[in-house]
Amino acid sequence: SVIPGSDEELMARRAASLGPAYRLLYNDPVHFVRGSGVHLYDSAGEEYLDAYNNVPCIGHSHPAVANAVSEQLRLINTNTRYLQDGVVDYAEELLATFPPELGNVMFTCTGSEANDLAVRVANFVTGNSGLIITENAYHGTTAVMAGVSPSLGPGVPRPANVRLIPAPDRYMLAVSDDELREYMLAHVRAAVDDLVASGYGVSALILDTLFSSDGILPNPVSWIAPAAEIVRGEGGLFIADEVQAGFGRLGAGMWGFTRHGVSADIVTMGKSMGNGYPVAAAVFRPELLEEFGPTVRYFNTFGGSSAAISAAAAVLHTIKNEDLVAHSKVLGYQIRTEVQSLASSDPRIGCVRGQGLALGVAFVSQEGTRVPDPALASRVVNAMREKHVLISASGADGNVLKIRPPLVFGREDGARLVEVLAEVLDATRD
Ligand code: PMP
Repeated sequence: SVIPGSDEELMARRAASLGPAYRLLYNDPVHFVRGSGVHLYDSAGEEYLDAYNNVPCIGHSHPAVANAVSEQLRLINTNTRYLQDGVVDYAEELLATFPPELGNVMFTCTGSEANDLAVRVANFVTGNSGLIITENAYHGTTAVMAGVSPSLGPGVPRPANVRLIPAPDRYMLAVSDDELREYMLAHVRAAVDDLVASGYGVSALILDTLFSSDGILPNPVSWIAPAAEIVRGEGGLFIADEVQAGFGRLGAGMWGFTRHGVSADIVTMGKSMGNGYPVAAAVFRPELLEEFGPTVRYFNTFGGSSAAISAAAAVLHTIKNEDLVAHSKVLGYQIRTEVQSLASSDPRIGCVRGQGLALGVAFVSQEGTRVPDPALASRVVNAMREKHVLISASGADGNVLKIRPPLVFGREDGARLVEVLAEVLDATRD
């Protein structure tokens, strides 16, 4: 019998009311009631270090966002059919962070909607419908986006117009940067040829430029630009999904795709954009919208509403004022170096990789074999949770620790993360 008010009772009520599609993280799920900066607090008042959540990029419950949204809600919160300063001011400020050829922005509520809109525009402009994605991509939750999200598993069927290319994983493939480039380009060419031969044509290559669900693979940066050219050669577009990589996560400018030296036709973003307040967007080359715009008459009730924009503006200003992109670079390098030094004496760690504050640690079962060890990754993630440090695992095999803290993670937080990881690695040495 469950105790009223206990977490067990809450889990039972949750399962009964939310149904079976939702998952909880961790073997021992954690019940949070409050967040502040890089810390979360559970129902017993215990503190946890958040090294996992990228959405609260400027920190949980940040007063700049809370105040901006609350003031806006008390003043006016309405939609893009009325003239308002906020949405235009923010649009200009956001577009200024992009290369000049990207000149229009349209607002949505979620990253999924932004990607969905991007694909609608790509299909409209190209007259094609073929989409190319990586083998364990995640691009969202709408019907179209679920179809290009193989990380959801085999239960979600892949539509006939979708082609997969491998994850750009030079460690698992055991190749050099140059070999990886040729390997990826050969697969892109094959996907393009197949879509053309099948009559779908090429609408877009869609890439998360950090390859988060593929196992955190932001490097090498050599292959995306020529891949986009192959796609453009058949009339297709390149869509950079920056839902994960955007807003300075990689510590190299605001956007992941610019690291790759590729020009994007459409860029989508979400997650950290509002620090937890739902706001997302797609940025376009204006010429793509010339015909689509008047034909389609886009309206999204909550997308770009006054409160959402006030949250997004507070986030963008904080990222700039606190120089969080540079911070992400410096701290990410430090954490990666420290984890690499753990790896040098631990053959179970096959590879430490990443850029800025998006780091991956791949576990393998035996030295030299490169056989993924998801069981160990899961043990480490759960053991770290017991020690109040929150991370998770990613990649097609689930063997890659995903370290992706709020951008305001401090040096001392990085040190604590590495220390707890070292303790847990020691404790899991059977
Ligand atoms: N693209 C990527 C790369 C993502 O990681 C996600 C969310 N995990 C999405 C799109 C979808 O965003 P949302 O959940 O806001 O719809």
